[in-house]
Amino acid sequence: MAKRMIETALTEEDAKIEGSLRPQKLDDYVGQSKIKENLKVYIQAAKQRGDALDHVLFYGPPGLGKTTLAGIIANEMGVNMRVTSGPAIEKPGEMAAILNNLEEGDLLFVDEIHRLNRQVEEVLYPAMEDYCIDIMIGKGASARSVRLELPKFTLVGATTRAGLLTAPLRDRFGMIHHLEFYTVEELKTIILHSARVLNVEIEEKGAVELARRSRGTPRLANRMLKRVRDFAQVKYDGVITETVAKTALDLMDVDKLGLDRIDRNMLMTMIQKFQGGPVGLDTLAAAIGEDAGTIEDVYEPYLLMNGLINRTPRGRVATELAYAHLGMGVFAQG
Ligand code: ADP
Repeated sequence: MAKRMIETALTEEDAKIEGSLRPQKLDDYVGQSKIKENLKVYIQAAKQRGDALDHVLFYGPPGLGKTTLAGIIANEMGVNMRVTSGPAIEKPGEMAAILNNLEEGDLLFVDEIHRLNRQVEEVLYPAMEDYCIDIMIGKGASARSVRLELPKFTLVGATTRAGLLTAPLRDRFGMIHHLEFYTVEELKTIILHSARVLNVEIEEKGAVELARRSRGTPRLANRMLKRVRDFAQVKYDGVITETVAKTALDLMDVDKLGLDRIDRNMLMTMIQKFQGGPVGLDTLAAAIGEDAGTIEDVYEPYLLMNGLINRTPRGRVATELAYAHLGMGVFAQG
């Protein structure tokens, strides 16, 4: 089945090339300047003290660079990074084993940290706070709890929304950073850099066109670059010009704002079926056959950021801009 072009989740194909495109140092990481400034200070301070960095939580839509930042922190701190994810750890014992295997200063990256189950999460509380875990030895009446000291480590958690975390877990992070969508200028820089690494010929205007249509998301920018490169190679002379980028992305059904068919269908449904809203999330999800969580984490943030929809206490509303973008009059209803 053909994947959505603007599917922001990591695909196998992305994983193959992301390794080579991922910046390794804070200075090479484009955008997110507030986060970078903060991290620079804290990393320097921790290094001067010879201490582990405080635990960090990154939240924001997929593909914005949370994993990349975790890797950069490990590099800058000169420590190893262990990677796991919320859904991968089912039992408290598994989490205890991972923690127990860490070395002094190591960074543990937990992707989708909001999906840890409660018992597993509870192992993290004393680990994050006091660098120790309590494990039960024996069974029944002879069972006793033994406290195990852990090396000092840094937990870096990533989630699509900070609100999905329980309060006790959230409170144990020393830094909580929200990743913003990237500007066209920032995405252009990323695209031109990736093009150099991948040996793709691209004109500046072609890069701007790709940047405009990549939904503020570096992962999509890189993915579009590869697809459009294929297109340029087969249909043109291999160079990604503005025209090549436009033609290719139009064919892929990605419009000028980076919206694809599902985004447009969502807006169209809000306008035609619900008179522009307000419409509740679950109702909208059912109407377009998408998962409510995916709408909230993946589609909505970009539509909100672009002012195409608003969130009101009574539900989502399509804005005048949405009508205009779809070429429909605001007063053309009924
Ligand atoms: P997330 O963990 O938020 O889903 P990733 O860190 O996996 O996102 O980022 C996806 C890809 O986008 C990375 O492999 C990298 O190539 C690129 N990328 C992300 N952020 C940046 C950035 N700030 N500068 C350059 N490339 C980036």
